[in-house]
Amino acid sequence: MTAAGPLITSHNPADPDDVLLRTPAPGAFETVGAVERAHAAQPEWLSGGAAARSAALGAVADGLHAAREELAALAVREVGKPLAEARAEVARAVAIWRYYAQAPYEPVGAVHEAAAGPGLLLSRRRPHGVAGLITPWNFPFAIPSWKAAPALAAGNTVVLKPAPEATACGLRLAEIVRQALPAGVFTVVPGGATEGNALVSAADVVSFTGSTVVGSAVARTAMARGVPVQAEMGGLNAAIVLPDADIERAAAHIAAAVAGYAGQKCTATSRVIAVGAALDPLRTALADALRAVPVGDPADAATVCGPLIDERARDRTVDTRHGLSVLAGGTVPDQPGWYATPTLVEKVPPGHPLLREEVFGPLAVLLPADDLAHAVRITNSVPYGLVTSVHTADLNTALEGLDRLDTGMVRINAPSTGVDFHLPFGGTKESSIGQREQGRAALEFYTSSRTYTLSPT
Ligand code: NAD
Repeated sequence: MTAAGPLITSHNPADPDDVLLRTPAPGAFETVGAVERAHAAQPEWLSGGAAARSAALGAVADGLHAAREELAALAVREVGKPLAEARAEVARAVAIWRYYAQAPYEPVGAVHEAAAGPGLLLSRRRPHGVAGLITPWNFPFAIPSWKAAPALAAGNTVVLKPAPEATACGLRLAEIVRQALPAGVFTVVPGGATEGNALVSAADVVSFTGSTVVGSAVARTAMARGVPVQAEMGGLNAAIVLPDADIERAAAHIAAAVAGYAGQKCTATSRVIAVGAALDPLRTALADALRAVPVGDPADAATVCGPLIDERARDRTVDTRHGLSVLAGGTVPDQPGWYATPTLVEKVPPGHPLLREEVFGPLAVLLPADDLAHAVRITNSVPYGLVTSVHTADLNTALEGLDRLDTGMVRINAPSTGVDFHLPFGGTKESSIGQREQGRAALEFYTSSRTYTLSPT
């Protein structure tokens, strides 16, 4: 066990001199201690009953709703999320807690006749114990909520480790959630890899969201312990545009999915595939739409594309376009903060990193395809498989896309970004490991089935 670790520092990405917080990382020993305290609190949280858990989750929703403007402003300041999106994220978090507040009343199993003779067979879902949650910085309220709320509803207790870049958001969330819950039921441990590792080594179920490199390692460690694990990771999402699509509308949707929150969403569009005659009008419409995206101060309610999370992310976005044919953007505005303008490139040579690696910035590549089958092959050719958007006026084409695309989600005539929290969320290949998140799928993940046999004496 190691002692308390180095300082966690979080900056305002729009004004790097504005330091929100400097706090020592608690270290592995303290993290494991938090899991032990959560263990001690779990039996009473479960035995307290459905009504108590439901009321507590409802009270969390009320607490978050009451603090919604303050929380949105904190997300603006700490992770550079444009105000309109930050407000929408907090509203989504509130809705998630309300949705799962009903879950404790849901059935938890089934009753079967015995195969032979009298007696009853019961299957009943039970919580695992302590859920260890590891989250990224880009949705500092919604992602912790969509993991914690179903875990708690099912009778687990929770230890959450937010990303270091979103520590202030995580600690404020903890204050609000804890007001509604008994002691030890929900704990936030700030920190980085050391604390994350310690959590994976001690929790009874692990849910991770973040990069593919870290998620794969987390999943391996948890699996080696025989602990259920899910990891939601990166994406390299495509938008397919057919010649029959409303090109202006498709361009508007795609521009929002490329540039919204500076492209820092796992569901952002980074490849735009124009089929046949769609190429020329789409090139013009999309370049125009990206140039028109409001870039600037995330505290301004009109901003769509704010700063990137840090200098490295900004440089990665801008450097990637070198040597490529740039149709829009690719510049760094002359102002403090880690900004890059929304960028569209084309004529990217085969094997270029842009065609296989996530940039996580406001940048997309335009690719031509001969027909839908070719577009589907390009879409499916990457190691990721999170979400695809298809833009067409033809229902047959849409249905063909649904059948042949190998991504976990397909959105027809809608941006690739924006998901509904009451349906399963996740992808294929290197985008996801394990069971889906959100909706009823989450309640299954945070429980395991027990089979009981009741025989007459
Ligand atoms: P990251 O992988 O760097 O960090 C994610 C979390 O893992 C953080 O809390 C971090 O402190 C922790 N961590 C780092 N090393 C660890 C270790 N060795 N053991 C345990 N925990 C460790 O990701 P990020 O930069 O915070 O987020 C960006 C990434 O997240 C992008 O790749 C994006 O696509 C992905 N993402 C995916 C989804 C999804 O649902 N698929 C949603 C949002 C973001």
